[in-house]
Amino acid sequence: MAYVFTAKETPSVAVAGTTDLFPVHRIYCVGQNYANHAREMGANPEREAPFFFSKPADAVCPEGSRLPFPLATENLHHEIELVVAIGKKGTNILATEALDYVFGYAVGLDLTRRDLQSDAKKKGRPWATAKGFDNSAPCSPVHTVSEVGHLERGSITLSVNGELRQQGDISDMIWSVAEVVSSLSSFFELCPGDLVYSGTPAGVGPLKKGDKMEGEVENLAKLNITVG
Ligand code: MN
Repeated sequence: MAYVFTAKETPSVAVAGTTDLFPVHRIYCVGQNYANHAREMGANPEREAPFFFSKPADAVCPEGSRLPFPLATENLHHEIELVVAIGKKGTNILATEALDYVFGYAVGLDLTRRDLQSDAKKKGRPWATAKGFDNSAPCSPVHTVSEVGHLERGSITLSVNGELRQQGDISDMIWSVAEVVSSLSSFFELCPGDLVYSGTPAGVGPLKKGDKMEGEVENLAKLNITVG
């Protein structure tokens, strides 16, 4: 038996400070996990339980990428996020044990075709085309827990062409990393290789061709991505 054509290589991200690669299994994202961003999107952050969407594993792209401007959008938005890299299999994980399932942390961008998302919201349709497009999940090298510990606080920022656009603190997340991992594992069996994009602070906004983004989470490597 053989594949009818050459199978695509497993998508991966670098493990910081090593020559190792973290093989990406699935990409999950949390919606509206910072109160100030939930409000800017017209939602009430106090009353909504965490919700999830996903991106294809091969939407991941590495630090330093210059991405082609995405198809079919006139309103591409940046969302800077703390990415949680899962290192252990589990379902129905208790929040008190959830951090044991974390392999490490990275800085990511949940790139969003906001025009398609607004249209999908209005029509009650899925977010697949708005969120799960090619190259929609840039991710920095992963820092292991043994290197940086668990991130419970620390600044998260995004600059575009040197101008600060998004600013927040990990401690402002409505649902903590442990709560996100616990909740997500009640819907899906988490596996080593899963990446969880944990939500974005306020300040999301449009990108144009040639824009240079620099994302940063305190204690992690920076993420530099150019679009178009
Ligand atoms: Mn997001």
